[in-house]
Amino acid sequence: MSLFPTYKRFPLTIVSGSGTTVIDNKGKEYLDFVSGIGVCNLGHRPPHVQKALEEQLHNVWHVSNLYQIPIQNEAAELLTSTTNLDYVFFCNSGAEANEAAIKLARKHTFKEKILTFKQSFHGRTFATMSASGQEKVHQGFGTLLPTFEYLPYNDTKAVQDVQDDQVAAIMVEVIQGEGGVIQGNKEFMEAIEQKCRELGALFIIDEVQTGIGRTGKAFAYQHFGLDPDIITSAKGLGSGFPVGAMIGKEKLAETFSAGTHGSTFGGNPLASAAIKATLEVIFKPDFLQSVMEKGYFFQELLNEKIGSLSVVKEIRGHGLMTGIAIHTEALPVIDELRDHHLLAVPAGPFVVRLLPPLNVSYQEMKRAVEILAEVLDQITDKTINSD
Ligand SMILES: *Cc1c(COP(=O)(O)O)cnc(C)c1O
Repeated sequence: MSLFPTYKRFPLTIVSGSGTTVIDNKGKEYLDFVSGIGVCNLGHRPPHVQKALEEQLHNVWHVSNLYQIPIQNEAAELLTSTTNLDYVFFCNSGAEANEAAIKLARKHTFKEKILTFKQSFHGRTFATMSASGQEKVHQGFGTLLPTFEYLPYNDTKAVQDVQDDQVAAIMVEVIQGEGGVIQGNKEFMEAIEQKCRELGALFIIDEVQTGIGRTGKAFAYQHFGLDPDIITSAKGLGSGFPVGAMIGKEKLAETFSAGTHGSTFGGNPLASAAIKATLEVIFKPDFLQSVMEKGYFFQELLNEKIGSLSVVKEIRGHGLMTGIAIHTEALPVIDELRDHHLLAVPAGPFVVRLLPPLNVSYQEMKRAVEILAEVLDQITDKTINSD
């Protein structure tokens, strides 16, 4: 193996995919409820996106941001018309989108401190690693950037008690994804917005995992009617094409004037074609409505079929972002599910996370829950026997 061992990979090689189904190199089929970690939100090779990419492949791939890119602007307009925000900066990943947000907040406010939350995840670059409130992400890298502080998540009082005139921004996930699928409550999120206004700080929402229809709204903050200054997006934004975006209010435009920030690849014609085609499908109100309905159906079915198993601690999530907290390690359960033809991903040590494509069928959801019930029921037996 000539690759750095940065990933502990499962013993599975996927060679093709279509919709919610993937096939491995031995011809075995799986129901994919991981979607490349919440990326393939329209399933594998969605026809509308594939067609847009194929057309762009025959025109031009990359020109750099030295030149006008009309399709980049069209992709941006889909983001601004669907949010309370006005301008987009395109980059290539979630971490880069958060980097852009951090840099913009510091430059705009002339302040340096960024408040984030315990168990948060914002990326792996130096600044976004420092922003992430997880010990395991920091380990071994020495002194972090000093201007990040972590508050307890869902602790409204801790937010209200902040007294600090050096805060440039507060950055938060609406649902902590990597941290265990933990939903922020409305009162807490509103307190953050209010504190930002009070401190003259920017309100940044990391929508990298929760955005692009995942929770049944274009972006999860819209469930709470919040008014962020900046949101960041990536994962589902390009249906698997590596892209990211930082989307912000008009008042910030002057701070990011020509020459202050940039990216060679960001929003190149191929990337923009993928973004535009993805959003054309997902941001349709009927499509988002269907995600909401599927989300309710899935959560209800999960509660009905596995909610009372002794190994299941809690079923949580919103839309099609689901976490099943269990009383035993998640990894062996993930392995067992895979043997039963269902792909799932952990979120922390004790949570089985399910991120199906947003156009998953009712039949596929039923099948997935059957498999979960079978596997978790066996584990319940084992747990009881070993006690
Ligand atoms: C995945 C994720 C990131 C990092 O995105 P990359 O594309 O891996 O850099 C940042 N924030 C959240 C909330 C994420 O889920």
